[in-house]
Amino acid sequence: MSKKATVLIIEDEHNIANIVKDYLRVHHFEPIISRTGEDAMRFLKEQSPDFIILDLTLPDCDGIELCRQIREKSNVAILILSARGSDTDKVLGLGFGADDYMTKPFSLSELVARINAHLRKQDRLLQEHTKKKEIIQIDNMEINKTEHTFKRDRQQIALSAKEFELLYFLIESSNQVFSKSQLLDAIWGYDAYGDENTITVYIRRLREKIENNPSSPVYIQTVWGVGYKFTTQNN
Ligand code: CA
Repeated sequence: MSKKATVLIIEDEHNIANIVKDYLRVHHFEPIISRTGEDAMRFLKEQSPDFIILDLTLPDCDGIELCRQIREKSNVAILILSARGSDTDKVLGLGFGADDYMTKPFSLSELVARINAHLRKQDRLLQEHTKKKEIIQIDNMEINKTEHTFKRDRQQIALSAKEFELLYFLIESSNQVFSKSQLLDAIWGYDAYGDENTITVYIRRLREKIENNPSSPVYIQTVWGVGYKFTTQNN
């Protein structure tokens, strides 16, 4: 079972806070109540909630101002829940970094539907971000960690598993120099039979596969006396 999403309810009215809390608990969330802005900011510092429900009228601060402060510290989705229904508040609230707005009285089932919609959206963004990171494009080349493929001018180029790992390692840390022994450790592991010539051989093979002119490499460069680095063209 996946981890329950933590929902921070910032609300000073006990009745409302408790009703929301009970309802969220039934719907498999982990609700936490903060009755003041100070308490909410402390909670935010110590833990990172997945979602925030924010009342605009709190005893110790203005909800809009609190929303702005939360946004400075966190990207968490914020839904403003308030008795004030004017459009000014609505605009203000969203302008200060809130993601959604509901006015009291409100429907608990709609609240849960909106929380779920925001969490799904966050999940999707996170997945896209992760996916993006696993595909690195440089000039006419594309390396895909998930599929273990390397393309040059959209043509897939066959690489052995170790060739791929070495190339991905270098590309991932572009412009950083690695010694042969560092590369050996990183790709073949510490217990590899430590022959640094292995690296020389693999670097030569990679150059033959990815460079326009392997004897005068542009991407996989030798740093004399140190090792190798992958250089990006726009560096
Ligand atoms: Ca209130």
